[in-house]
Amino acid sequence: MDIKVRNIRKEFDRYPALHDVSLDIRSGELIALLGPSGSGKTTLLRLIAGLEFPTAGQIFFGAEDASEKSVQERNVGFMFQHYALFKHMTVAENIGFGLSVRDRATRPGKAEIRRRASELLDLVQLSGLEKRYPNQLSGGQRQRVALARALAIEPRVLLLDEPFGALDAKVRKDLRRWLRELHDKIGLTTIFVTHDQEEALELADRVVVMSQGRIEQVGSADDIYDRPSTPFVFSFIGQSNRLPVDVRGGEIRHGDIVLGRTAEADGRWNLYMRPHDLDLVDAGAPGLTGTVSLSRRAGGSRISEFEFGPERHRIEVELPADRGGEPGTELRVRPRRWQLYREGAAA
Ligand code: ATP
Repeated sequence: MDIKVRNIRKEFDRYPALHDVSLDIRSGELIALLGPSGSGKTTLLRLIAGLEFPTAGQIFFGAEDASEKSVQERNVGFMFQHYALFKHMTVAENIGFGLSVRDRATRPGKAEIRRRASELLDLVQLSGLEKRYPNQLSGGQRQRVALARALAIEPRVLLLDEPFGALDAKVRKDLRRWLRELHDKIGLTTIFVTHDQEEALELADRVVVMSQGRIEQVGSADDIYDRPSTPFVFSFIGQSNRLPVDVRGGEIRHGDIVLGRTAEADGRWNLYMRPHDLDLVDAGAPGLTGTVSLSRRAGGSRISEFEFGPERHRIEVELPADRGGEPGTELRVRPRRWQLYREGAAA
């Protein structure tokens, strides 16, 4: 099911949680809503679900204007982090719940509900656990039962709010892979909320980066990582260094130091560089130089920090651990890749 979000504004007691949000989701896509706490991710998800209604703007499911429709009319499946399983119901009863509360005209028979529950348990790879109670399951198993419960009503769209939020790192990673495979198998339009950039970039077909009630960028993992359209996205997605620079005649300069070339117009810009996109250069070559004050190991590399220039800009460099960078040593580096943003663009 295609979903079109058109110029949505949402206020809570006059406080705007979403400004002018528009978004096109294609049928069968797996979409991540990514952003810091309070950026409006959950609000957008709840509006799509029909748990909230917009102050202004519209939401279309296919060609149909769903803006005023209820959750049931929209036929969405959702799973919220704190929307726990019913403790007094078995796994099978939990999964069948959405079907068993339908009105008589559309409610399947008991045997049919049982059959559907066991089919879904197969799908989430938990066959045989029908009769267990939630407290007899691991955290990861519970999440999968919750997902089966969301799928039981055969939704047109699946909405997941921080689906793996409460789980430990290893289980989280396994479930991620599993959700991706499940999605590819059933091809259901799925939107999930996360504040974990790795989770978003690894799992989603496209990532929607949000900040302060607005969409900053929508794109594939490559778009977001390699071509972040704003300084906010650049910094949110990974480690970053920022250095004010002048562009003159195609040269990027910090004071007298020429750091590279660009096609951008003359003026004042900010140069954003990732620590692993800085290379060591020889003494004679132009570069950013300083004495390392702090360093830490990160797997096979070392991340070293030094201060640069009279304004004491802090630069972080990630180098293979055997290339130096210990505290007290001098480093001279130059960016291999960077992004330029106009001075004043919000970070
Ligand atoms: P988190 O990652 O912390 O869940 P989020 O990006 O999902 O954050 P939202 O929950 O959508 O953010 O909240 C966006 C803004 O709207 C926040 O400032 C929040 O305080 C406010 N807000 C959300 N729901 C309500 C509500 N029911 N009443 C009043 N304010 C609300």
